[in-house]
Amino acid sequence: MEKTTTTKTDKICTICGTKFKEFGNNAMPVKDGICCDKCNDDVVITARIREIELDRLFQKWAKA
Ligand SMILES: [Zn+2]
Repeated sequence: MEKTTTTKTDKICTICGTKFKEFGNNAMPVKDGICCDKCNDDVVITARIREIELDRLFQKWAKA
């Protein structure tokens, strides 16, 4: 049986510099590029939550 060869190019995480073969995640707003799953969970999601919270704070101030 023949397997369809998918090009497995190593990607490099823009945050930790580790090579990975997964699809990768958008590293914004932390970095402009892609990152590994670990950094996505540890760094990017935390940063996004922080941004959303800041946004909410600004909206509160704008209303007051
Ligand atoms: Zn990483």
